[in-house]
Amino acid sequence: MAGGDVIIGLEVHVQLNRLRSKLFCGCSTDYHASDPNTHTCPVCLGLPGTLPVMNRRAVEYAIRVALALNCEIQGETLFYRKNYYYPDLPKAFQITQYDFPLGMGGSILIKGEDGEEKKIRITRVHMEEDPGRLVHAGTIDRAKYSMVDYNRCGMALLEVVTEPDLRSPKEARSFLDKLRNILEYLDVFDGGLEGAMRIDSNISLVGGERAEVKNISSHKGVEKALAYEITRQRSARRRGVAQVQETRHYDELRAITVSIRTKEEAHDYRYFPEPDLVPMRIADWVPEVEAELPELPDAKRERFVAEYGIADDHARSLTSEIRVANFYEVVAKRAPSRLAAAWIADVLKGELNYRDITIDKFSPDHMVEILSMLEGGKITEKGAVEVIRTILDHSGDLSEVTPTRVVEAKGLARAGNDAVKAAVRAAVEESAQAVADYRAGNEKAINFIVGVVMKKTRGRADPGEANRLVKETLDEI
Ligand SMILES: [Zn+2]
Repeated sequence: MAGGDVIIGLEVHVQLNRLRSKLFCGCSTDYHASDPNTHTCPVCLGLPGTLPVMNRRAVEYAIRVALALNCEIQGETLFYRKNYYYPDLPKAFQITQYDFPLGMGGSILIKGEDGEEKKIRITRVHMEEDPGRLVHAGTIDRAKYSMVDYNRCGMALLEVVTEPDLRSPKEARSFLDKLRNILEYLDVFDGGLEGAMRIDSNISLVGGERAEVKNISSHKGVEKALAYEITRQRSARRRGVAQVQETRHYDELRAITVSIRTKEEAHDYRYFPEPDLVPMRIADWVPEVEAELPELPDAKRERFVAEYGIADDHARSLTSEIRVANFYEVVAKRAPSRLAAAWIADVLKGELNYRDITIDKFSPDHMVEILSMLEGGKITEKGAVEVIRTILDHSGDLSEVTPTRVVEAKGLARAGNDAVKAAVRAAVEESAQAVADYRAGNEKAINFIVGVVMKKTRGRADPGEANRLVKETLDEI
């Protein structure tokens, strides 16, 4: 899907949902499990005579993000009214930023299509208020009616705009994964909440008109919507259909994009300075926020390689989620660090993804115990995987399923030497054909006999060890 002729830029709306209150009023941000229209007040409903009051912590969070994205922080920043009517925007304007955004000229590193590190430039980061939410009865182009929920109205949003540096849907997804990762490290954002990140993307083929695809709500959705758009634009070009610059909506259910309007221009919005908010001088504020920035993913990855002696791929995988990185550090202090990296990055993460659950469902103590049993030869690798799966699939109290108990209950203890030797003797006796094949020079026949040994020991023998013993026995006879 790359092809070199694809140009993609993203505008990502990030909700600063770790704040306690909205951007300009005291309404709680904790509305996700509440009934519609229960987290509102005269300010966020835009009633006449009300005035916005800036949430100081929101500005601090915004500076934190802009710094982490390597932006130049503007000394003075200004708010504007962006005028348009929409049912989920009761004031008929949105307070946002325009020509003096908070941060400009940043960048982040992603893993590009070719596997190399690639820098994606960030044009700007600005603050704005979130509109409410429309709930359509059916799909957007066919709904008989729509309902509006103002709980989201006035939530603090950041808009992160990239330069058109992305060349494929896959790169767009890597960018979003990395951005989410950084935001979670900064503790300003919980990506698990509904509507936490919404993405608009500009996409065009070289020399073609640009389409803007609006309001995609998941990383997987972005990849699909962009792939759909590339196919649609290529096919239109082949058929000689003239393209117009337009805005399209991504329909997640049908996995297609539909045209909603031709593109509006900035002057259509009649931006003018918000008279109810003073310009903010933030220059003096920056050093303080900068001093408190946590270690970010790229730096943590480098430290993991240097401090724990692990492979760069493992370090990248472990640091791609703050919770996994923290989990790893707890385990690595009490177990061999490379073994821990391999088991957490290659096995545990895979099992978590498969079940679509987070690492909070697993305890570092249990990981340390499993690694110690592996190292001491008490269980095989296969047995260790079985222990991890059993614990993850257990729905009750985690203390009931300690690794030691699971090993006992499921009989996963590695078979003793005598037991393995007995199984090898029996397997060789039973497998006359395979023995004959081996003697005739077919080395692979040995795998069949090892398979019989594994079956007899119910997987509790180490396959390498079984292989060695079978060979030894065959060569003796
Ligand atoms: Zn409010």
